[in-house]
Amino acid sequence: MTARLNPYLSFRNNAREAMEFYKDVFGGELTVSTFADFQASQTSDSPRAEVRDLGRLKPVEPMARRMGVPLLGAHQVYVMKHGWEYHTAWCQVVADKWGHVPGGLLVTLLADVGARTPCRECDRPLNTAG
Ligand SMILES: [Zn+2]
Repeated sequence: MTARLNPYLSFRNNAREAMEFYKDVFGGELTVSTFADFQASQTSDSPRAEVRDLGRLKPVEPMARRMGVPLLGAHQVYVMKHGWEYHTAWCQVVADKWGHVPGGLLVTLLADVGARTPCRECDRPLNTAG
């Protein structure tokens, strides 16, 4: 009957030296992994840390609605609840959002778009709002 032993030894600061010492004494293979190896994704380089603060959404009432479709007034833009862009026109992106998740389409003031960037599709607005 054989028993497999997986020891977990904890050293403060000098673990590598200690393991190399034991390897010299007992022989065998030494595989060294550091906490830094496993926690690399938790450093400030991780994608999570790069999530930008877009600014708090401050929805306003659209100037008007036509068959439920919110129409922009002066200084108003469309934003998505989870979007990085703002829209100055009823573009394909806005129309798609309205078609699939109308509740995710909001109207806010241009002054309140925060770090959101202008949508390129808005250069080619659709003729009809809905
Ligand atoms: Zn757009």
